[in-house]
Amino acid sequence: MVPGAKPRKVACPICSKAAEFSPANPWRPFCSERCKLIDLGQLSSESYRIAFEELDDGAPEDPRE
Ligand SMILES: [Zn+2]
Repeated sequence: MVPGAKPRKVACPICSKAAEFSPANPWRPFCSERCKLIDLGQLSSESYRIAFEELDDGAPEDPRE
């Protein structure tokens, strides 16, 4: 098994096009710089904020006393 011998293809999270997930693709897991920039822009959008807030909440302690 040689790492990188078989480049993995992933679906671009933005446009769902096949993107090569390898060092040859600096925009991975996106297919292009454009899609990466679009994703960065969405970091400040509400849908992403909500997701981050949920993640930030973490695992609550057992509420039972
Ligand atoms: Zn894309």
